[in-house]
Amino acid sequence: MIQRISEKELEAQREYAEKVKTAVSAAGSEKGRALRFCVVTYGCQQNEADSERLAGMLYSMGYEKTETDADADVILVNTCAVREHAEKRALSVTGQYKHLKEKNPDLIIGVCGCMVSQEHRLDDIKHRYPYVDIVFGTSYLWRLPEILYRRLSRRKRLFLLDTGDDGNIAEDVPVLRECGYRAWLSVMYGCNNFCTYCVVPHVRGRERSRYREDILKEARALVADGVKDITLLGQNVNSYGRGLYEDYGFPELLSDINAIDGDFTLRFMTSHPKDATRKLIDTMASCEKVAPQLHLPLQSGSDGVLRRMNRHYTLDSYKRLIDYAREKIPDLTLTSDIMVGFPGETEEDFEATLGALRDIRYDMVYSFIYSRRKNTPAAEYEDQIPEQIKHERFERMLQLQNGIGFEINRGYVGKTVRVLCDGESKNDPSTLSGRTAGGKNVCFTGTCAAGEYADVKITEARPFVLCGETAEKGDKNDDI
Ligand code: SAH
Ligand code: SF4
Repeated sequence: MIQRISEKELEAQREYAEKVKTAVSAAGSEKGRALRFCVVTYGCQQNEADSERLAGMLYSMGYEKTETDADADVILVNTCAVREHAEKRALSVTGQYKHLKEKNPDLIIGVCGCMVSQEHRLDDIKHRYPYVDIVFGTSYLWRLPEILYRRLSRRKRLFLLDTGDDGNIAEDVPVLRECGYRAWLSVMYGCNNFCTYCVVPHVRGRERSRYREDILKEARALVADGVKDITLLGQNVNSYGRGLYEDYGFPELLSDINAIDGDFTLRFMTSHPKDATRKLIDTMASCEKVAPQLHLPLQSGSDGVLRRMNRHYTLDSYKRLIDYAREKIPDLTLTSDIMVGFPGETEEDFEATLGALRDIRYDMVYSFIYSRRKNTPAAEYEDQIPEQIKHERFERMLQLQNGIGFEINRGYVGKTVRVLCDGESKNDPSTLSGRTAGGKNVCFTGTCAAGEYADVKITEARPFVLCGETAEKGDKNDDI
């Protein structure tokens, strides 16, 4: 049974937050400046959303935000465990903080999130990183005020390992959003799918959905706050409501949020192909605020590999759903996750994946080299693929997909698209950047403030970005 964390427990956290705030204010007076926090985030959108909550709690405790870790009095590293590479990066950045701690012994260093929801990693930090003060897994996030209070008052290191069975959901945790006009909105947490390669169910626990009224309340507040682009988050949004409602699932939730008054776009991730239904597609097509964008990870084009991954769909059933979606939503932007080098993947299996990419023609693919994850079944499979072959396949896949993405982008040249502007482009500050409703990256010239819409006439296509200039009034808007 899914339960909200009780009001009494949340109130206790608010009391801890007040106590920390008093200590932070006293320390600030002594230093002659406000204390500062820095949250460093690795991994997926759910981690980014979690980091905004960590920031919200720290802000409520009187800390000010800084982007520079060297200036901070509290540093939290919010980690990812999906691939070894992500863990290595988090460990390496944590390693660098040793020097900061030597310079400032009052600095509090915390490591949290998915990586340290694994016992062996928590032990690693305990023994090999003695200057790390606090370590806590994902289900302890809402208890940050208590964790900080305990650390500040007792000065003992604190290690909280996720039990994995915490099925509870904390509502009303303060949040400090990175962006005023784009927002994440988690609709569910955890995963029950146990794909054989994946660590997520082990580190984020069982699937649990938020109550619809809590989600709708948050969505209304975001819209009232001027948010123009909301991304609903869940590891498998299509199983929203399971175990909570009989006749209310993700399509119903989407319709209800769509019905909120306001000028905003609604998108979601991630859909699992085994649970994505025609009803979902029909709902997307009929809800005017839902973006024409679908991220539907295929992982592999080989049915044999999909079976051993425990994915519960075939390439054929996947393609039929895509055909239906493209028929109902003609301007659909389609993206996917593809993995190469899963144990036992033969050249023929890999060719099937390349064939699927040629047939389906995704706008963009997030591509991954299989990474062996402790405690997952695939890690024990004997037919692991040698690194060199994995890398060769990865390069071949990239080459093919980059060409396809480029071709699709070239089809936009001459069209005018509506773009939500994100301000100056990071790569080239003389231009602006933004995204279409379908999620295409656009860089453009002209004037437009961040958070405003611009009609952009596309003049050039590149493999991962469309380039253009703000259009004259009256140019036809193709609304992609
Ligand atoms: N819940 C989402 C994905 C979450 S993880 C879904 O099912 O689509 C994001 C992506 O990381 C996955 O789609 C997969 O392609 C990749 N991934 C997960 N585990 C991995 C591993 N062990 N090695 C390499 N890539 C992995
Ligand atoms: Fe991992 Fe599969 Fe769950 Fe996605 S659906 S989080 S890939 S176990």
